[in-house]
Amino acid sequence: MIRAPDAMLQQKHAIRRSVCAACFMRPVGSDWFPGEIARCCEGTCPIFTNLHILKQVAARRAAEPAQQQITRRICATCAHATAGGASCHRRDYQSCPLSLYQDRVLELLSEDRPLDRRETTIEPAC
Ligand code: SF4
Repeated sequence: MIRAPDAMLQQKHAIRRSVCAACFMRPVGSDWFPGEIARCCEGTCPIFTNLHILKQVAARRAAEPAQQQITRRICATCAHATAGGASCHRRDYQSCPLSLYQDRVLELLSEDRPLDRRETTIEPAC
């Protein structure tokens, strides 16, 4: 599917290039994917399924620590966490992509990238 470009789409592309390319959960053979191509794991990935919340978290970091916001707004409703997001075996065993890569994701979501009209998304590819 091809969509019109926008700022969030460009940030998605940046996350795919910077985070997904090195993610421990990336599908075999997807290392070469450019930012325009989504991996098949994206639909259930806690980073991509919470992208709009993470964008807000990035914008509010000065008012409330990012980890506190993520625990309250994302982990609290995650099926893998308990105790209102305070306890999570996936976080403890470093098997949650959001927990592992949240600093880089928030950094990318904080960047104001100039709009490139050539950017589109083709998804998913695996
Ligand atoms: S699990 Fe998430 S971060 Fe990892 S490759 Fe898949 S979509 Fe990217």
